[in-house]
Amino acid sequence: MLEKQFGGVNKRPDGTFSITPRMPLGKLDVDGLETIVAVIRKFNLPGIRATTGQRVTIEGIPADSVDEIVDMLNGVGSRTPQSIIACRGHGDCKHGLQNTQTMAMQVEEVLCDSVQIPTHLKIGLSGCSRCCGNSYIQDIGLVGTPDGWTLVIGGKAGSSVRCGDDLLVDSPLELVLTTMERFLTFYKENKQEKERVAAFIDRLGIDHIKGELQI
Ligand code: SF4
Repeated sequence: MLEKQFGGVNKRPDGTFSITPRMPLGKLDVDGLETIVAVIRKFNLPGIRATTGQRVTIEGIPADSVDEIVDMLNGVGSRTPQSIIACRGHGDCKHGLQNTQTMAMQVEEVLCDSVQIPTHLKIGLSGCSRCCGNSYIQDIGLVGTPDGWTLVIGGKAGSSVRCGDDLLVDSPLELVLTTMERFLTFYKENKQEKERVAAFIDRLGIDHIKGELQI
């Protein structure tokens, strides 16, 4: 069983498992689609469900089939405990001020190659202040502005909603990426077990965090 090292496998209340392959920018090519269809047919599964994180979840998987399905899905992409959602952004939406699709790829590089944080994180990218990427209620948010990006940390939805704090406003892309990387490194090294970004900021205070990051 690969459950512990495989961020996209979850046990369901009915004892079955679900698997959520990583889908950068919510996209899946023909090979990826065919792989998922082959899994569903071979194991006679009910189908897929769309997630709020722009991915699909394969549900109803018996425990003794998880390892084999994980092997089959390797062609779909690696799995991470982070999810990045991005609105259509500049070039695909008439309101878009910044390119969310390109930015999402760069954010993913920071997460996967630089910080490698083994924590569940939701990241929301919006190409303008209309915020279709829910940037102010995600652990990390990015909002396109006329001259750059606003970097938001510590938002959350759910039973107690928290609006994220602006860490940078109207800043150039490179500064936003390096600041996000520095914040995530600080968070990774100082957070308590299972402490999400919103609780981390409430515990330390946004001014203290800005001071640590010299912002
Ligand atoms: S946030 Fe702005 S750019 Fe993104 S989809 Fe919504 S309106 Fe378009």
